[in-house]
Amino acid sequence: MTTRPLIAGNWKMNLDRAAGTALARELAGAVASASAFEMVVCPPAPYLLAVADELAGSPVALGGQDCHTAASGAHTGDVSAPMLSDLGCTYVIVGHSERRADHGETDTIVRAKAEAARAAGLVPIVCVGETEAQRDAGTTLDIVGRQVVDSVPDGLDGATLVVAYEPVWAIGTGRTPTVDDVAAVHAHIRGVLAAKTPDAAAVRILYGGSVKPSNAVELLAVANVDGALVGGASLKTADFLAIARSV
Ligand code: PEP
Repeated sequence: MTTRPLIAGNWKMNLDRAAGTALARELAGAVASASAFEMVVCPPAPYLLAVADELAGSPVALGGQDCHTAASGAHTGDVSAPMLSDLGCTYVIVGHSERRADHGETDTIVRAKAEAARAAGLVPIVCVGETEAQRDAGTTLDIVGRQVVDSVPDGLDGATLVVAYEPVWAIGTGRTPTVDDVAAVHAHIRGVLAAKTPDAAAVRILYGGSVKPSNAVELLAVANVDGALVGGASLKTADFLAIARSV
């Protein structure tokens, strides 16, 4: 298995087909197989196939932004993990705080989505993170630890699981925790994972929340930070590549 840091781009509901395929083409042309990092981009579902075409033959992987818990059925508007796999995805983000907030996704649902992802051969990127009120109340480690316990399926390993720590208050705000705070949360996540997998040391734990070229070196150097989940800065080729090259 690879232990390279993972640099994941979450495009969210941004870019149109022309802009998304152009971004994918530029990344595919710039990233070499022997890079120090692994890269995955997660476009909006309607553009997955067009982006897959641009990434064909390149080491840049494709991921979904969400999947349903079921493999198929009467779930209007949803996308299943086997469908993502069919389109060439190898990763899928589950439990992003925007989905938890906008769609009422609980830890139980997130866990079921992660299990559905694994059943389809995808690697789930399971997102956890505290709100600003929870941080202010001093409950960050308890909240994040509980989310990991309840959202992450048991028995996965470094090849089949990625966890992303994304403080809700840092997403899209330009604010980030201190490196000491990031280190404390990532170490805690690693410890909690030890009870769920014999392979906790090999599970990549990404940091996400306002990662940009100017702070990537510092954040990616923190102990137990094994890559980044990047939103806004993943929409610009130069910025996303600069972050990836900061590992
Ligand atoms: C995200 O939403 O996953 C994210 C990290 O966003 P941003 O980088 O824009 O804060």
